[in-house]
Amino acid sequence: MPDTIYLDNPASTPLDPKVAEAMRSAVSGNPHATHALGIQASYQIESAKQQILPLSGKGRLIFTSGATEANSLAILGMALRELRLKGQRRKIISCTTEHASVLELKPILARLGFELRLVPVSSDGQVNLDRLEEELGRDVLMLSIMAVNNETGVVQDWQEIDRLAGRTIVHTDAAQALGKLPKLPKRPDLVTLSSHKVHGPQGIGALLLRRGSKPDALLRGGGQQAGLRSGTLPTALCVGFGTCCEVAQTSLADDLARIADLSEHLIREVHDLWPGAKRVGESCVDGIVCMQLPGADARHLLNSMPGVAASTGSACDARTDRVSHVLRAMRVRDGRSCIRLGISRMTTRQEIDGFLNLLDRARRNLLA
Ligand code: PMP
Repeated sequence: MPDTIYLDNPASTPLDPKVAEAMRSAVSGNPHATHALGIQASYQIESAKQQILPLSGKGRLIFTSGATEANSLAILGMALRELRLKGQRRKIISCTTEHASVLELKPILARLGFELRLVPVSSDGQVNLDRLEEELGRDVLMLSIMAVNNETGVVQDWQEIDRLAGRTIVHTDAAQALGKLPKLPKRPDLVTLSSHKVHGPQGIGALLLRRGSKPDALLRGGGQQAGLRSGTLPTALCVGFGTCCEVAQTSLADDLARIADLSEHLIREVHDLWPGAKRVGESCVDGIVCMQLPGADARHLLNSMPGVAASTGSACDARTDRVSHVLRAMRVRDGRSCIRLGISRMTTRQEIDGFLNLLDRARRNLLA
């Protein structure tokens, strides 16, 4: 897509050419086989893990097909474990702005006898800490709060969440935090990661386990990954995930500084050219910018700019006509006027300026 202005990075980031190159060097034998090729492939997977850990923080990595599966493994896996151990805790606390891959577990959890309780957020996108405190009690199995929201970029107050959580098991969906925050929150016992949000390949992610946390397996079979997630590991995808994390780690501080500059420029210019424009959310990462453009129908607006790849909310909601659950949870008035713009280390100043030109033209057409 050489002519596309790509601002849909929260949905998926372009594959880094260095990552593609590394993936071509992946050995094609089964990494669980005991012959020389298998052992070589398993070494490649082991070194991919060593490349991921400096960016994610320490822990035990279980590869999954992505963040969706990692969220299921964390939450359903801990619920299954509680049942197996005949524990009595039946509440799982999360919040209203979580990704669909957490929220959609509610009916399955209910069938298993667990209640997924959703704490509301305030209009700035922050979890209501008083309500969280009220919910936390002895019957709580775990807390699952995302680190960075995929539609607004809102970063939760981890210091306060940690303090309130006490000894409760904590999971965080860090799919949008990896490579966007200088460091991931340290406290969570289980951390969801996804490669394609960090210029790695799609179809691979991981659940990082800390402090001995051990969900029951959802996928059973050949017993790979110590029985925690059966299935042959995809060596090339693991190598790609490892490489993208290493590349991200190498230039993280510089990239975050550049993204912050571009983001500031984008927000300032949108404010200048669109009367009443407002960023949605507070304490946001720089790379995810949700802008409310009063009077606009964001979907029509984006359709009128075919050279721009951006979205109105999560790609997972993109095909429905409803205002996203995140904006509704934040009680954003006229959520239909919001567009989400994502900046990655590959985004150029020319792309941002090209987008601003097109937005200005679209605004003038709207007024004409
Ligand atoms: N969680 C969050 C916060 C996300 O942004 C996404 C991707 N939209 C997912 C989970 C799902 O990720 P994956 O595509 O790796 O399954």
